[in-house]
Amino acid sequence: MYSRKRIFIAMMTATVLLLGTVVFGGLFLYFNRANMVNKIVLIGIGGLVLISLAVVGFGLLVMVITLWTHKTFPSLQNFVMTATNILFPIALQIGKVFGIDQDTIKSSFIAVNNQLVDNRNIRVKPHQLLILAPHCLQNSKCPYKITIDVENCRRCGGCPIHDLHRIKDKYGVNFVVATGGTLARRFVKEYKPRAIVAIACERDLTSGVQDVNPLPVIGVLNIRPEGPCFNTQVNLNQVEAAVRQFIGEGERRTAYSSAKHITEV
Ligand code: SF4
Repeated sequence: MYSRKRIFIAMMTATVLLLGTVVFGGLFLYFNRANMVNKIVLIGIGGLVLISLAVVGFGLLVMVITLWTHKTFPSLQNFVMTATNILFPIALQIGKVFGIDQDTIKSSFIAVNNQLVDNRNIRVKPHQLLILAPHCLQNSKCPYKITIDVENCRRCGGCPIHDLHRIKDKYGVNFVVATGGTLARRFVKEYKPRAIVAIACERDLTSGVQDVNPLPVIGVLNIRPEGPCFNTQVNLNQVEAAVRQFIGEGERRTAYSSAKHITEV
């Protein structure tokens, strides 16, 4: 435990030192810019900052155009990913400052991700698709251990796991239930899917989508009538629509992705 804390504190200290060095170094070079070497270093740093901003800005622009036009630009996807990875954590922090609910930002991220995946028009074979569901969908009174083997479910109709089995059987896709990120990552390693339909809360979906990047994931938010992580539900039409889209049987831009989020971009 001590070493884990030390790593975190060391990383934070290193970040502060790095930022301090950049700021004070920049100021020092600026006030001593009469010296030619300093001038060159200052221009170099300024150039790097500008290039970074240009890359992130371009990625953001491509993302907006992609969402707006429903067209995809495969050769520019790396810019979109770079912009997302850099800007999303910053967006969360800015949201905190302005009192915007973190789940609202995360669910917006999921909606954007879903449409970006939708635009790529990815098609996979049923056995290459994995439905990844959270353990909290299982009825809390159910005695069967479905995270070890989802086939332990007796399909009694007592929770959405029953219906997810029906979707799995109907389309011949893979289906697993995970208790958390570690088990989910293990399933992804084990099944090596080409695409994932993931069901989870805003927080887990957001981190999961980023974890498996660039693997395409359509995220479906769970419903929490009894509070988080307990007897949760899911809109099965959205799950089925996502499955149908990946295996090429569905209409594009189906219900899993909130139209509200799409048109608001
Ligand atoms: S459908 Fe029935 S047996 Fe299967 S996980 Fe739910 S409650 Fe348990």
